[in-house]
Order: sequence, then C-alpha cells, then structure tokens
Amino acid sequence: MSRCILKIKDKYFEWSTVVNAPLSYGMNYLELKKYIKAKYGLEGLKRLPNQLERIAKKGNSFQMTGDIKWLIAGNRAGDDETELNSDEIYEKYCSPVVVKKERTRIKKWCRICQKKFDPGERNKKRPTMCLKCYNESVVRRVEARRGLKDRRGWIVFEK
Ligand SMILES: [Zn+2]
Repeated sequence: MSRCILKIKDKYFEWSTVVNAPLSYGMNYLELKKYIKAKYGLEGLKRLPNQLERIAKKGNSFQMTGDIKWLIAGNRAGDDETELNSDEIYEKYCSPVVVKKERTRIKKWCRICQKKFDPGERNKKRPTMCLKCYNESVVRRVEARRGLKDRRGWIVFEK
C-alpha cells in the first residue's frame, strides 16, 4: 500500500508514500468519511474502522509499525518539494488560504475543444470554455458583426 491516513493534532490527511506528501487537506472525522466514501466507496468505508484503530495507536493507518515521524521522514510536502515537519504540514494543509487556492485549480472541460482547462485562467465565475476558445469566439463574434464570417467561423460570401 502506498497510501494511508495519518493524523496530526485534530486533523486526518491521506498520505502517499509515492509522492511523499499529503493527497488531501486536513479533515475532521466527518470530512474524512465523506472523502473516503467519494474516493474509495463502500470498500473504503469498510476499511476505515481498522485504520482508525491503528491511527489511535500510532498516528497513521499503515499496517507496519512506525510512527508519524517515521512515515513523514524525507517527505516532499513543502513548496518545491522541501521537507516539512508535522507542525508545518498541519499549517500548510489546513490553512484556509491554501485550501481555497487549490480548490479553484480543479480542471474543467472546455465545451468547445473538449480539453481540460484551468478555470482560474478565465476572469469569469463559471467559465464553460477555455481561454483560447473564448478568445476565438470573441474574434468570431466581431467578424460576424462585420459580416465577414458567421458565428461558427464560416466565411460568409456576399451575394
Ligand atoms: Zn477550448
């Protein structure tokens, strides 16, 4: 298993030994349950009581012995993959600023080119197309107004 849950102070984090950093933000118990259900379904929820038991004993859900210090040794949880101690991990991954920033990074699908894009790149609340397609659509609208092309971009011939 390359993933486990660890607990720092009052928050749970999903941890990956592959990226050597948290995969989630700090969660309370209810948030953790929701997260596990969304990510791993009922199978995940079934595993949770045993995991919580191990977390209560040694701070993480790994079946191997080894405490949090052992688990996060050599981690890359900081900016530019720097190592953080557990207090720093807690600070960074529970900070509302970071959580907000990361959440807006969720990718959306562009309805025009069907590619993923970062909604943060658009200065609009609910963008449905990427910046490139949006810019092209603006150009098309201008051209349509000028009578050169219709909105789909086809050239309109004068009769
Ligand atoms: Zn697009």
